[in-house]
Amino acid sequence: MLQRFTQALIPTVKETPAEATNASHILLLRGGYVRQVGAGIYNFLPLGLRVLRKIENVVRQEMDRAGAQEVLMPALLPGEYFKETQRWDLYGDVLFRIRDRKGGDYHLGPTHEEIVTDMVRREVRSYRQLPLNLYQIQTKFRDEPRPRGGVMRGREFTMKDAYSFDVDELGAQRSYENMREAYKRIFERLGLTFRIVQADSGAIGGKTSAEFQVLADSGEDAIVACDECDYAANVEAAEIGALPKGPEFPKEEVREVHTPNVGSIADVAKFLKVNAKRFLKSLLYVAPASDAHPHGEVVMACVRGDHEVNEIKLANALGAREVHLATEADVERATGAKVGFAGPVGFKGRVLVDPAGAELTNAVTGANKTDHHLMGVNLSRGDYAADVKDIRSAAEGDPCPRCGAHGGGGHFKAYKGIEGGHIFILGTHYSAKMRATFLAQDGSERPMIMGCYGIGISRLVASAVEQHHDQDGIRWPLAIAPYHVHLCTLGTEPEVMNAAKALADALVERGIDVLWDDRDERPGVKFKDADLIGLPWRVTIGAKTIAKEQCELKARSNRDPKGHELVTLANAPERIAAALGMAD
Ligand code: ATP
Ligand code: MG
Repeated sequence: MLQRFTQALIPTVKETPAEATNASHILLLRGGYVRQVGAGIYNFLPLGLRVLRKIENVVRQEMDRAGAQEVLMPALLPGEYFKETQRWDLYGDVLFRIRDRKGGDYHLGPTHEEIVTDMVRREVRSYRQLPLNLYQIQTKFRDEPRPRGGVMRGREFTMKDAYSFDVDELGAQRSYENMREAYKRIFERLGLTFRIVQADSGAIGGKTSAEFQVLADSGEDAIVACDECDYAANVEAAEIGALPKGPEFPKEEVREVHTPNVGSIADVAKFLKVNAKRFLKSLLYVAPASDAHPHGEVVMACVRGDHEVNEIKLANALGAREVHLATEADVERATGAKVGFAGPVGFKGRVLVDPAGAELTNAVTGANKTDHHLMGVNLSRGDYAADVKDIRSAAEGDPCPRCGAHGGGGHFKAYKGIEGGHIFILGTHYSAKMRATFLAQDGSERPMIMGCYGIGISRLVASAVEQHHDQDGIRWPLAIAPYHVHLCTLGTEPEVMNAAKALADALVERGIDVLWDDRDERPGVKFKDADLIGLPWRVTIGAKTIAKEQCELKARSNRDPKGHELVTLANAPERIAAALGMAD
């Protein structure tokens, strides 16, 4: 395919747009790929759409290859299906709700478990019709509290969502593994560096789930990956290997010390001349109201002074949907002391402590008395009562739970990631609620075992740029570049234009997509735009090169300003095809 610049809508911009902060947002706006229509709502201009379609095509090919079948479900949905599973209420403000002219409840689809489950329960009766895997590439709507990063987190976005239906757990596991392999191929083919990470699946009740995280420093998700084996996890889900045993100290008596006007752990540590690692940091959280605690339960979470409490792990440990940090007033009411002096000794309420905190000998902790701390606190001696649970965030340097416990083997390295995909075994969560059952071979009626698998197609456009750019612009991976070759003509003399046209035609014949910058612009302007737009190869033809029957070939990844290769016009199509890995 050949596209002439003068006939295209490619509105490149020199200035950094004021509303954008992350690199992908800035470059996709500046390169003329996308434009904002409203908060979290975007137009894809021609270049942007070509990238989106290329990603879709890779995803479609791999889903088809994996045996999934494409369907298309509506985006406009009657409320009754989400009401069947209570998600009409659970989804809260994220759901775009609509009334039709008759006053009926409708909404825009944020995801389609209910709709696909309804489709399948109507059509599938027998085990003979299973397994099934249905997918779609479709527009999703979520009224995100903080849409940001352009198409990275939109309120309208394109997702590939797939749903598997199996007769038993083993089958569901097989479907899940099949999708995991398909996703691996997809992310590899797209040219993205990624990690498959264990994710939190507490709230949905799923057992097995993994996120495909595209590594990028600007990513929102904190992940840890073992430096020796392939264990990787979101910090909120990461299991942590046992830390090596510290030196043994004789147990001291618990004693109260006066710590006036010192607040933070760092300050108290300095004041008492004790390492922060000897502290038992105690934070108060509130879990939502329940029958036993109509006003919510105040619990104490304790971790070692250099560790952080993780709210998702804490909520999971409590069996709560969420927890939030207690207010100052809550803390004072629960401990009788100002914030900064809470501790587990004598605390009237539930205490959870993480294993590293539980192991401390002679810990320093708050005394539940303003301006006072306790030293010499030992859980092993029963100085306080607590449930020992993993409630802290994994951090760089922690031992790997698979190969690194007790000081041997691998340790965590910390990364930032962008969640590009998410795969899940759902079990019977939806099929039981919605009575999506089948007749098993033994004649019994059973709920189908489901899995769901999402890829953020439009988010991947931004993720790819986040991972592949430099200060001059985008550096598209070959597989998703909107065109393969950026052909620049310098000057508009007929010989130059004719030579360019002939070269472009020869390239197109080989299946190479060419964007021809045929504008009457200065070389500097054209080269700047070429770097910004970021096609993998730039080919330049001008009066000077033509005089020698040559053109210049330069890779976008080559940062050397003189790093181009002179190729004869006759050899150029073959040489370029070879550079693109498209030679026959
Ligand atoms: P996040 O944690 O980033 O909000 P999620 O876990 O809510 O995402 P899923 O429900 O797992 O998202 O959706 C499947 C995929 O859709 C995600 O892995 C992500 O790539 C993409 N996605 C989710 N929300 C958005 C959004 N607002 N804009 C663009 N892509 C999104
Ligand atoms: Mg997710």
